[in-house]
Order: sequence, then structure tokens, then C-alpha cells
Amino acid sequence: MIDEILDLAKIESEQVPLSREPVSLAEVMLECQGMIEPQAQLRGIQVTFPQFDVPCFVLAARTRLKQVLINLLSNAVKYNRPGGTIIVDYTTSALERTRVSVRDTGAGLYPEQLAQLFQAFNRLGQEAGGEEGTGIGLMVAKRLVELMGGVIGVESTVGVGSVFWFELISVAEPHLSTEGDDVEASARPHVPREARLHTLLYVEDNPANLRLVEQIIARHPDIRLLTAVDGRSGIEIARVSQPDVILLDINLPGINGFEALRTLRSDPSTAHTPVIAISANAMPRDIERGLKAGFFRYITKPIKVDEFMEALDVALEAAGKRSDKSK
Ligand code: MN
Repeated sequence: MIDEILDLAKIESEQVPLSREPVSLAEVMLECQGMIEPQAQLRGIQVTFPQFDVPCFVLAARTRLKQVLINLLSNAVKYNRPGGTIIVDYTTSALERTRVSVRDTGAGLYPEQLAQLFQAFNRLGQEAGGEEGTGIGLMVAKRLVELMGGVIGVESTVGVGSVFWFELISVAEPHLSTEGDDVEASARPHVPREARLHTLLYVEDNPANLRLVEQIIARHPDIRLLTAVDGRSGIEIARVSQPDVILLDINLPGINGFEALRTLRSDPSTAHTPVIAISANAMPRDIERGLKAGFFRYITKPIKVDEFMEALDVALEAAGKRSDKSK
């Protein structure tokens, strides 16, 4: 509860709107499924997730989207009847919106309960006793959905159950932008590299972005790509593997890219490794803040192959000079 109040205060103090990028709904749901199933099984509740025949991407802050969905799923478990069911589904409308719904078979809510549901400190199901309050959780979920440009709502029938839903903006699956330059040309190094294997570490929580960078790096057999999905494991891999260059996402679960950069800088073993920021925060003041913080370069999403390779070549060159000096 205290954590959630602090979290809400933090959300409110953050720049509005939240930094958003295309996020695969299927991938987020799969992660949420792994997190919710143990709780559901304890109560004999069956949870069904949708099949994705075609990729479905929404504009979201990935960590925040997971937080919202987990919140709705935990409520659906907590307030369900033993042996009940939860059906998670999604629909994409002609209005370029994707609606995610979580249907439970709980007691349902009266209109007066529904009216207060998303308000601060309201504890859903308090009267029923025994359950931890979740009012603040729903308020956080509402705020997060709104900060991602979406809406959240609920429909309920007493004695049947409730459907909590939220809608976000639908977007296309991210792809590499080569902006007219031919792919073959961008596969060649802009600056000739030393004939040795280079190691690149990419710290990124969004698998869609990881795949794009993997596609680029696959054209460069002299570069080995290591990956990490959050700041702490990224720092750990950097210490152990000593990559030549680090690519760091800014919006990461746990510590963000700025905090991760500070930690890397304070450790003598990684203090001088060039770190390139790759971020969906693309405002000039974001870029300025990034460069001021000590990023070698600041690249914005969507990733452009040419810009990416140019920054990487220069960073690898800088890393090479540095390792020559230390010999
Ligand atoms: Mn991210």
C-alpha cells in the first residue's frame, strides 16, 4: 500500500505524458500470465489468455502497461469465487484503438461501488473482509492508462462478475527505417574497424527493439551482441563481459538508464566504456539531458539504421583507441 502511494507520487511528478513506444501485447500478456498463474492456481481459478494470430502493437510505456494488466489480473483473482474463471481478451477497433479486457466471475459490483472504484483510498471489497484493499491500485492503473493516452473502465453485473478494460492507441509493428539509403551500404562500416571481435551490450526491456538491433548486428560478423532486459543485470553483464560499447535504453524496469549510467561510470571497470542511449524520449531537452549526463550519443526511437551504425562505428573507434592506450 505504502509502495503504491509512493509510486503514485512518483508518477505524478514525472513528465507527462509517459514515454511511449510500440509494445507487443502478446509479449506483455505472456509475461503477465507467468506472474498471475501461481496466484490463480492457489484458488483453483482458471485464467484464459487470447491467441494472437497477427501481431498486435499498442503505444505504451512497457513497464507501466504490465503494471496495469497485473493490477487488473490480481483483482480478478482476489475478488473471484473459488474455482472461478478469468478471461483476458483484446479487440482492435476501426478507430485505431485496442481494448484489453479482464472478465472475472466474482460477486460483481453495485452501481454505487462502481462510481467510487477508481478513486483514491477506496478499498474495493472492504466490506467482504479479509482481502487487502486495492483502491489505490486501481487509481494508479487509471492514472497510468491516461498518461499513456488511453482510457480505463469497468462493467459489472451483481452475481455474475465484472469486466475491467482499458484502451490504448494501436500502432504498427516497429521495423527498421533505412530512409532511402540502401541496406547493403549501411551494412558496411562507415569507418574501417580493427580486425578483431567487438562486443556490444544492449540493455533493453522491449523485445521488439532487441529484435531490430539483432537484425542490424547480424550483418556485422565482427560484432558480438550481448543483451540484458533491465539496468541491474545490464550492469552485471558489463562488469563481467567488459563490452566495447554499451547501448542503454532509458525507460527500463527497476533503475532507469540515467541511474544505470551513473553506476557504470562509478565502477572503474566500466567507467570509460562508451554508452549510447537509445530512447523513445525524443524531445530536444531529453537529448540535451542525455548528453549532459554523459552518454556518448543519444539515439531516438524508431531506430534508423544509418544513424545507429554511424554512432556505433564512432563509439567502437573511441573504445578501440582507449584500449590501445591501456596496452
Ligand atoms: Mn524501455
